[in-house]
Amino acid sequence: MMDKMKKFLKIFALTVLVPLFAACTSKQEPAAKYIFLFIGDGMGTAQVGVTESYLSHLAGKNGGEMLCFSTFPYYGMCDSYSANALITDSSAAGTAIACGSKTCNGMVGVAEDGQTLLNSFAVTLKEDYGYKVGILSSVPINHATPASFYAHDRSRGNYFGLTTQIPLSGFEFFGGSGLIEYCGPDNDKDSEVVLEDSGYTVVFGQDEFDREFEPGKKIVMISNPVEEHRSNTPNYERQVDSLVSLASMMENCLEVLGTKEPFFVMCEGGEIDWECHGNNTMGMVNSIIKMDDAVKVAYDFYLKHPKQTLILVTADHETGGVSMGKDGMAPSWDSIIGGKEVQNTGIGWTTRGHTGNPVPVYAIGCNAEKFSGRYDNTRISSKILGKE
Ligand SMILES: [Zn+2]
Repeated sequence: MMDKMKKFLKIFALTVLVPLFAACTSKQEPAAKYIFLFIGDGMGTAQVGVTESYLSHLAGKNGGEMLCFSTFPYYGMCDSYSANALITDSSAAGTAIACGSKTCNGMVGVAEDGQTLLNSFAVTLKEDYGYKVGILSSVPINHATPASFYAHDRSRGNYFGLTTQIPLSGFEFFGGSGLIEYCGPDNDKDSEVVLEDSGYTVVFGQDEFDREFEPGKKIVMISNPVEEHRSNTPNYERQVDSLVSLASMMENCLEVLGTKEPFFVMCEGGEIDWECHGNNTMGMVNSIIKMDDAVKVAYDFYLKHPKQTLILVTADHETGGVSMGKDGMAPSWDSIIGGKEVQNTGIGWTTRGHTGNPVPVYAIGCNAEKFSGRYDNTRISSKILGKE
């Protein structure tokens, strides 16, 4: 009887406990096979609250409606200050998240001396652990936040220079609304040529993606037709209605990356920041909902691979100093939706710039519990890599 029991326990340990443990362990290496990091540019806690207030209004309630990511079981909070300022910009915050080091505002992937190159954890995942990598944004691919994951430059404004570094990363998929300085500073060479000369296939819009996609191809996907980009006018802060949603872009990215090898995806909701700079409540709400739609694609993936997937949703900094309620008035959603000029819409904005408010981190999946509590944004990368 005892022998039978021992044998049963041994088999139980080997077949149930070992795989359970092995599916999500953390010994100085990334625990999750599939990692998603969403960055809502400028998205503080109040931006999320205002968006949920809008959803609750649509449902005929005072509150209680939630975005997909705010239902995640683990919640943390990050400091966002940069090496030289309490109030960071996107490049210094993106670099802190991607490379685990503070740098000065305006710098991308370099230390505060402006010269020492910093390594993005996306590169570490690729080179040391064989992860495939996708970099997605609802704004241009060479904007500060996405660029922090693949490029190095002491100036975030050197857009064409950032584009030329895309192929050096060797990442499998890039997606965004365009490339700023599409034709280069001397207007002599299209970004498309630079990228295709380096082995990338550049596709414009969903039809071209569907036509060109083949396993093994490295793809740069631009959501809108090429004609919109061949202009000397940088489209920085130009609102372009993307013809391909961030959620569809995520689906394309997952198709390119596959599930055989481990992967990492960074997905930025970039225009949240631009809407907050403009103190545009409905624009902010809609852009957060668009990012949440892309989170839902990752969440569906997580449901199929729950033990191997980690999803994080955070922000680089807060923009606009928004509040849900102003001068004692609750948000008046009928006025806001209708665009009515009323004295007090119940949404407070304290600035058209960034703030130093700490930002939230929402986490679910493998090792998600490590992301609860209060910590610096430079520690996100070391937590992902399993170094803490
Ligand atoms: Zn930003």
